[in-house]
Amino acid sequence: MIHTHKVQNIARSLFSENKIDVFLGYQSGPLNKHDIPLIVTELKDIDRLIFTEKSVFNLTNYLKYEHCRNKRIGLIVKGCDSRALNLLLTENQIKRENIFVIGIACTGVVQVNGKKYANCEECVCPDPVIADEIVGPKQGLREYKVCGDVLQLAEKNVQERGAFFQKVFETCIRCNACRNSCPLCYCPRCSVGENTTQTCGRANTLPNAAAALLTWSLHLAGRCVDCGNCERACPLGLPLRLLHKKNEIVVYQNFEQHLAGMKTDDPGALYKYSLNDPESFIM
Ligand code: SF4
Ligand code: SF4
Ligand code: SF4
Repeated sequence: MIHTHKVQNIARSLFSENKIDVFLGYQSGPLNKHDIPLIVTELKDIDRLIFTEKSVFNLTNYLKYEHCRNKRIGLIVKGCDSRALNLLLTENQIKRENIFVIGIACTGVVQVNGKKYANCEECVCPDPVIADEIVGPKQGLREYKVCGDVLQLAEKNVQERGAFFQKVFETCIRCNACRNSCPLCYCPRCSVGENTTQTCGRANTLPNAAAALLTWSLHLAGRCVDCGNCERACPLGLPLRLLHKKNEIVVYQNFEQHLAGMKTDDPGALYKYSLNDPESFIM
């Protein structure tokens, strides 16, 4: 999956025709580990753009930051990233007319060892759900499946699962890299931010970390697009995907197989109201 020349050509045209102010793409990273984000504002930097199977990060996260606000942006999205873009549009965080979307029909991105990431192995929607130009042959929709670590954890009893997550929360250093790397966490005053809440303090304790990470994952329930940005950002390599995937499964099973961001103007499972809701979880 190498689309470097195609991406460079599109970006060059967009700047030459004065259609964008900023282009969000990828460049080679240090140590050849991952391609890292590149923010292009001038034609001369376009030759640095690349797109490979190491272009792992979800660039829609940059749309919430100041250097993109009120600008005309060109950006690259893979299938999962495009679902985040859809949600940002639905939630009125960005204007469609300000965005030019290069959608990559994605064959999966890889870890340092060359193996595909778990979210790519289970990917339902590798093609972009929103794009102005699509690059690469379409892959088609895939059947919803859950495997690997998520299933193994689900098979454990409550005590074992509790012990597993207690270890995760004890290890967390509360750096907030996970939250900051998520495109769908954009509130200016976060309800679990150190300076804005009484419920979870700055101190690096187990209750604080548990409250912050559990609240965060619940705010993503029905909204997480399984892009993997948060888990890759964690400096301790904590298995954050397990938290989000479990929520995704519960929403999928209880809200008419809802998956976040698949359709434009779909407000998300937890915003919907139906008189026919069985509410089977209410005693
Ligand atoms: S989750 Fe799907 S769209 Fe996203 S990088 Fe993996 S294969 Fe591509
Ligand atoms: S919670 Fe993680 S996997 Fe889900 S959308 Fe945010 S960054 Fe992506
Ligand atoms: S990135 Fe990792 S260590 Fe930092 S707050 Fe998130 S879970 Fe904790």
